Amino acid sequence: MSRAGSHPSWGRIPASTPARVVRPVAGRSPLPAADDRPLLAYGNGRSYGDVVINNNGTLIDTRSLDHFIAFDAETGVLECEPGVLLADILRLALPQGWFVPVTPGTQYVTVAGAIANDVHGKNHHVAGTFGRHVLDFDLTASDGTTRTCSRSNNTDRFAATIGGLGLTGLITRVRLRLRRVGGAFMDVDTHRFDNLRAFFELSAASADDYEYTVAWVDCSATGTKLGRGWFMRANHRPAMGQPNAAAPKPGPNFALTPPFSLMNRATLTPLNTLYFHRKRKRRFRAAQHYQPYFYPLDGIRNWNRAYGPAGFYQYQCVVPPGDAEASISELLARIGASGQGSFLSVLKVFGDVPSPGMLSFPRPGATLALDFPNRGESTRRLLESLDDVVMAAGGAVYPAKDARMSATAFQHYFPRWREFAGYVDPRFSSDFWLRVTGDTA
Ligand SMILES: Cc1cc2nc3c(=O)[nH]c(=O)nc-3n(C[C@H](O)[C@H](O)[C@H](O)COP(=O)(O)OP(=O)(O)OC[C@H]3O[C@@H](n4cnc5c(N)ncnc54)[C@H](O)[C@@H]3O)c2cc1C
Repeated sequence: MSRAGSHPSWGRIPASTPARVVRPVAGRSPLPAADDRPLLAYGNGRSYGDVVINNNGTLIDTRSLDHFIAFDAETGVLECEPGVLLADILRLALPQGWFVPVTPGTQYVTVAGAIANDVHGKNHHVAGTFGRHVLDFDLTASDGTTRTCSRSNNTDRFAATIGGLGLTGLITRVRLRLRRVGGAFMDVDTHRFDNLRAFFELSAASADDYEYTVAWVDCSATGTKLGRGWFMRANHRPAMGQPNAAAPKPGPNFALTPPFSLMNRATLTPLNTLYFHRKRKRRFRAAQHYQPYFYPLDGIRNWNRAYGPAGFYQYQCVVPPGDAEASISELLARIGASGQGSFLSVLKVFGDVPSPGMLSFPRPGATLALDFPNRGESTRRLLESLDDVVMAAGGAVYPAKDARMSATAFQHYFPRWREFAGYVDPRFSSDFWLRVTGDTA
């Protein structure tokens, strides 16, 4: 057991210190003996805000539970402990022709962390969320009971735990089905687009033929250029078309946190403009290794430190398909007017594959994700004004990336939250859950 300030969220907001951190040991109960403190599992801390924060409580650091249990290279079914990283799975399975079925923009997340946030990837329009590919898992409750949950066994707990933000108990074993691939390389087709309308046209034209689609948006552009950017669509290359090339080497490391944010008013607009004009050609195709394609940020270790000691907010929302263009346009206009742009602005259209979790974030529509350096009150006011647009449109904000949404907003975005509350383990809690339920849980 240790006490640590070494378990921050990825955005470093809020600053928090758990009262203690426990690391489960094989052969012993994974849960510490009962005391007055609330419990929460910590995966690899890649959530941006407070779904992974348990101030003054006990964190269960699950990275010690990182063993593979079984892998069937015929069917692609993998069984493992909850702290196994997607990167570990890729190392094991890719040489045998298998890939993770859904991946977020970093491979350094644990399997259980991916379940608890029901993460999505660039293939949402065909594959849905991570939880859809989970066959079953074991869930240990604070009363010591362990239940196996699946689509046919403890189905309600299965639905509550997928996207359940770590609140229903501790996931201690997982079985999931991987996806067949021909090798490590992708066929990537990149287009520059001039405005939001062009993004939606490219997205619609790509959905049937491309498994992965996503766009980078220049959020400093305004007027007729609003929503311009780069659209990247891709498929896995077949086995016969694999280049004979090695994986890229690890990139630079932000070893220290600079005293102020390097992402500021002076740098963001030129960075966005430069990136938009980085190539003269409007379209180019290339075979690309899966690592830079899926995980461009993993190439710069500890990049979150670039935002300085005050950290940063990430904001990801989804707005329904009907007036997605108008809603995204309004969001980008408000961000542009605030002068608090983001460099990492990502836009994608989610499909209508239903998510299995009661509290899952993905739903049909367009999703926009951005980083905002933390400038205190002015940043929070901007994010609240974005909430107004998302709420009026009938959309939602992603808890995995949130550190400040109000209880009213949460309850509006996630109408099944009361039903979900019935499955929250009495000894489990998080700063996020306390904030968004207030006194009403
Ligand atoms: C660069 C970057 C890109 C990202 N891109 C995407 C993206 O494209 N799509 C997307 O959906 N997300 C994305 N994310 C967010 C990230 O995928 C999620 O926050 C993910 O859930 C983090 O996993 P983790 O293992 O680090 O879990 P943590 O952040 O440590 O924890 C996440 C939640 O899981 C719970 N948990 C962890 N282990 C267990 C367990 N054993 N039992 C029960 N609950 C548990 C925790 O209590 C917490 O509520 C991105 C994050 C980064 C940093």
